[in-house]
Amino acid sequence: MQKVKIPLSIAPAKAALKRMTYDGIIVKGELSRLSEVAELLDDHVNVSIECGIDSQNLVVIQGTATASLELTCQRCGNGLNQDVKSEFVYTPIRDAAEESEDPIPEAYEEIELNEFGEINLVHLVEDELMLALPIVAMHEPEECSLTDKDMTFGELAPEATEEEKPNPFDVLKKLKT
Ligand SMILES: [Zn+2]
Repeated sequence: MQKVKIPLSIAPAKAALKRMTYDGIIVKGELSRLSEVAELLDDHVNVSIECGIDSQNLVVIQGTATASLELTCQRCGNGLNQDVKSEFVYTPIRDAAEESEDPIPEAYEEIELNEFGEINLVHLVEDELMLALPIVAMHEPEECSLTDKDMTFGELAPEATEEEKPNPFDVLKKLKT
């Protein structure tokens, strides 16, 4: 099946009224920030987005993004393949400072419209995938080429953990000078 590119940006209110859904891809070349921190194993990430209006009359943009990535294991330094998935629900706001009459449900993330009154979907998805990355990428212990035995250099030597007690005579010496 031919995968279509999702639009770069959408006018959310219009898209919500039409209950637009997008099921497609973002090609690797458009995800430069993500490519800096991880190697994309496919030439694209998969995205599906639904636009609608909720019972509170808020515009809702929700969807999922998935990517197959190669990260660097922080223990052995070798490649680590990982599928990353992000689910998101956004509601657009015109101005972050503007108070809305009804509080925005906590389940929604707020997103500011750009100067054209649109949301940049590519940026949104890239941000979501960056946030979905593990803070520290590491193989499972049995899959890692470094074992725990190799890791002893990371532990503190016993003498280093012993607290150095101040010598009371040193304090006296300082008072005298
Ligand atoms: Zn490893």
